[in-house]
Parts: sequence; structure tokens; C-alpha cells
Amino acid sequence: QWKTELIGVGTELLLGQIANTNAQWLSEQLAQHGISVYYHIAAGDNMQRLTDIFQTAQSRSNLVIVTGGLGPTDDDLTKEAANELFGQSFRMDETSKGIIEAYYEKNGLTMTSNNYKQAQVFEEAYVLENKEGMAPGQIVEHDGVIWVFLPGVPMEMKYLMTEGFFPYLKERYDLPTEIKSEMLHFIGIGESALEDRLSDRIRVQNNPTIAPLASMGEVGLRLTASADTIEEAKEIISKEKEIVLSRLGDYYYGSDDITIEEKVCELLKSNGSTIAAAESLTGGEFINELIRIPGASHVCAGGMVSYTKEAKEKSLGVSPYVTNRYGTISKECAEEMAERIQQMFRSDIGISFTGVAGPSSSEGHEPGTIYIGVKVGEQRAYHHFYHIQGSREQIRKRAVKKAYQLLFH
Ligand code: ATP
Ligand code: MG
Repeated sequence: QWKTELIGVGTELLLGQIANTNAQWLSEQLAQHGISVYYHIAAGDNMQRLTDIFQTAQSRSNLVIVTGGLGPTDDDLTKEAANELFGQSFRMDETSKGIIEAYYEKNGLTMTSNNYKQAQVFEEAYVLENKEGMAPGQIVEHDGVIWVFLPGVPMEMKYLMTEGFFPYLKERYDLPTEIKSEMLHFIGIGESALEDRLSDRIRVQNNPTIAPLASMGEVGLRLTASADTIEEAKEIISKEKEIVLSRLGDYYYGSDDITIEEKVCELLKSNGSTIAAAESLTGGEFINELIRIPGASHVCAGGMVSYTKEAKEKSLGVSPYVTNRYGTISKECAEEMAERIQQMFRSDIGISFTGVAGPSSSEGHEPGTIYIGVKVGEQRAYHHFYHIQGSREQIRKRAVKKAYQLLFH
């Protein structure tokens, strides 16, 4: 069982001058290889704190990947700090020395003794040759912990991981050879409610790993399994998926690349239903999302953006009685918009959007007040009311998502 710790070295990380994208990329790669990451650490260029951090890592992890601080300048302290732990001597790596000399020669620069520092490696290091830059990567196994040192420059770090580290690990350790992953998509349930229902699974997760990911009114759950054969990995995924869906099946709409819009399009198509939309604050986004999907012509009758009160009355045909008495931001108006658009396009379903996208209030309603009207066949029109938080853009996007969510359910 891997217990991995990632340490990003560089004061610029702590000052917020750069984001620790190295840790993100490394975590993603390691997860894909079924290797668990337990800690992300960012450390400044300070000898005392670095040695403390390395001590801690040595005591609690069995794989430690350090990026940054391998450069030639005085503030590049990674190797010196790590050697407080290792107590090795340094040796010159001739290949790296050659690469650095060639670089300086080619660019007509003179080398300083500092530059040779970059080619210094731990006595017992396994050297990862850097074809993308100057400082080589190094792997040192110390007291049961695998230490990996990589330059901070993302391109060099990635190259050394892919071409150096993973092959090293595969050769010496029994890494599972096959990884299978599936992203399950849920809508209509929040991330915390979903995690709550799976808390026992998430607590014991190991193979497969279970990673929730929330975005824009949806929750994804990535299951990643590792095994000797792809069939075994698939089997592990499908067993876990069965457990997850027995608890959350009502909210599940599909896996991997499918979107909720595609799912709704598919459902409408299989029911042989058509839909038309009357949109106010969403400005045609609902219809746009539908028409993006190949095959939308079977289900999308059309739509109208009726933005002003006048457009709602004169073009769409909502009665002035409704708009005057209840306002355009009302359930009554939403329902009548849905009825009118269904009639106008002779579609099976009519859907409508009216509300306030903000940033200022309208007709006395706060931004985020949304009514979605629905009219299905001969049934009476009904509506859904939402209060959505966020910027104008987020409110409009979420309103569209809500509509797809309710068409799915
Ligand atoms: P060099 O030999 O090029 O000096 P180094 O190993 O000393 O490399 P740093 O000087 O720490 O690495 O970082 C080099 C550059 O790489 C930084 O200026 C920064 O842009 C980028 N970098 C460093 N650490 C990270 C990180 N954790 N995430 C993303 N980018 C990083
Ligand atoms: Mg540097």
C-alpha cells in the first residue's frame, strides 16, 4: 500500500505567485496508477523548515516526490536539506555535466562553478537523465522510503516522471499493470448528500478508489480500479458501481463522456417526444444546448427568446392580465409561457424560463429567482421555483441545468 507525499519547494508557492500545478498533475498521474497520495506540502526555500518537512515525510510516507529547488542558485536547497537525512556524499553525474556543458557551449555562455552544482547527485542516487533541461532527476531509497527529486519546471518534471520514474517503479515493484476508470454522473443530489450515502464505501476505499467531483449542479464519482488484467479491473469497477447505484440510482444518468443534455435528448427521442422552449433570462441557452447535440432535430421543435414584457405578450401571446396582475417573474407567467410555446410549435412538451439573472433585482425579486414552466401534452401546465446563488452568468447556466435535470426526472 503506497503512502505518497508530494512536496513542492519554492517560496513563490507560499507567496501565491504560482499555483502548485505540479502537485495536481502528479496526483492525477499517481491516482491513475493506483498509487494513493496522502499529503501535499508546499515548502519555502528555508533550510531549517525543509529539513523538518523531510524528516516528517520520512516518518509517515513510503513514497516522497519533491519538486523544485534543484537549480544552481543559493536558494536552491533541496539536495542539501535532504542530505541532512540521508547523510550521503555527492558525486558528479557525468552525463548531466555533459548536458550542462553542451548547453553553455551552444549558447556561448561561460559556466560558473554553481552550474556544476546542478549535476551533483547523491552518492547512491538512481539518476533520471533530463532531456528537457539541465538538472537531472534522482531517486534515492532511504530506510524503506523511495525519495524522488525532480526539477520544478513543469515540462521537465512531467518528462522525468513519465520516462524515468514510472518505468523505474514498474521494474522494481509490483505495480498493477492494468488500470480501469469510470466516471459516474449524478444530477439532483448535492456532493455532501452523495458522500454521506457512500461514507462507508469512501472510508474503506482502496481498490477501486472513489473520488467525488462536483461541478455546476452535478456530481461526478470517479471509480478507479487496478488489477493484473483489464477484465479483473472491469470486474472490480462493476461490483462497486452496483453498490453505488443501489443507493443512488435515482440520480444517476450515465457514465464517462455523456452529458445531461445528451441524456435528455436521448430520452425524448426514445419517447418520440418533441420540445419547444420560451426563454427569457436564459436567452436561448436551453435550446442552444439541445441543438449542439447531433440528432437534436428529432426532438427539438424550436424556441423563442421573449425577453421583454411586451415580447412575452405580443410575440409569445401571454395574456396581459397575467403579466400585469402577477408580473412577468411569476409562476403564472412561466406556466402560460410554456403553454403558448407548446401551442406555437405544436410540440409535445413546452418549457419556459423566466426570472432574474441579476446583478440587480427586477420587479422586486432578487437575482437568482427562477421559474421554469412545463407543459406536457394535454396535462395542465406546472412550474418549478428555484432560488439560485451566483453571478449573472452562473444563474443563467444553472437555470438551464435545472431544466435538463427536471426533464430527466
Ligand atoms: P531550475 O533548475 O530551472 O532552477 P528548480 O528545480 O530549481 O529548477 P525551481 O527554481 O523551484 O525549480 O522552479 C523553476 C520554475 O518552475 C519556477 O519558476 C516555476 O515557474 C516552476 N515551478 C516550480 N515549482 C512548481 C510547482 N510546484 N508547480 C508549478 N510550477 C512550478
Ligand atoms: Mg531554481
